[in-house]
Amino acid sequence: SAFSDLGLAEWAIQTCKELGMRKPTPVQTHCIPKILAGRDVLGIAQTGSGKTAAFALPILNRLAEDPYGVFALVVTPTRELAFQLAEQFRALGSCLHLRCSVVVGGMDMITQAKALVSRPHVVVATPGRVKVLLEDNPDIPKVFQRTKFLVLDEADRVLDAGFEEELRVVFQCLPKNRQTLLFSATMTSDLQTLLELSANKAYFYEA
Ligand code: AMP
Repeated sequence: SAFSDLGLAEWAIQTCKELGMRKPTPVQTHCIPKILAGRDVLGIAQTGSGKTAAFALPILNRLAEDPYGVFALVVTPTRELAFQLAEQFRALGSCLHLRCSVVVGGMDMITQAKALVSRPHVVVATPGRVKVLLEDNPDIPKVFQRTKFLVLDEADRVLDAGFEEELRVVFQCLPKNRQTLLFSATMTSDLQTLLELSANKAYFYEA
């Protein structure tokens, strides 16, 4: 299949071409149309499979139609992954004037709170830091009042690291009618439990 078969806007297809992405990977072929159609997704996919673009492209497509507030919150286990994810969002969203903030530990929290209050389109966060910001500053939960997407990247690692409590706080602060996208290298019973927290019946992808 081709990027032009997946329901993406012309600018997105063009961006993929410019980034040297000649054809979609399997996780992209299967997940992009489902995400565009409004489904929740549980994807079992490894790093290197193209999973980041599999969720970033449809999120950016929907965002381009109605760029309201913090449109997507992406939670990932480590700072390094957070910066890499933000980099891919910026590259794929380069023609949208995308504003993307990274919220991770070890950096100034007041600066991060200010960045969030300015409502970037996409926030990429580690679980510990986003929990502290949500709980300590009454202005922060409001920022996520109309968020349309929650992505949990490397969800098995987030759960292995014992971040259930952090995730509970994040889930509570987001609207019920959002889409939830979970990507994990392995399928675990914890993931199944997590998915039951989401309102939609999820599409399940495994290579
Ligand atoms: P990921 O699995 O998201 O960590 O992506 C791994 C790498 O593959 C990234 O550097 C992407 O830029 C690249 N990539 C993603 N999708 C494609 C594609 N369809 N064709 C070629 N490269 C891709």
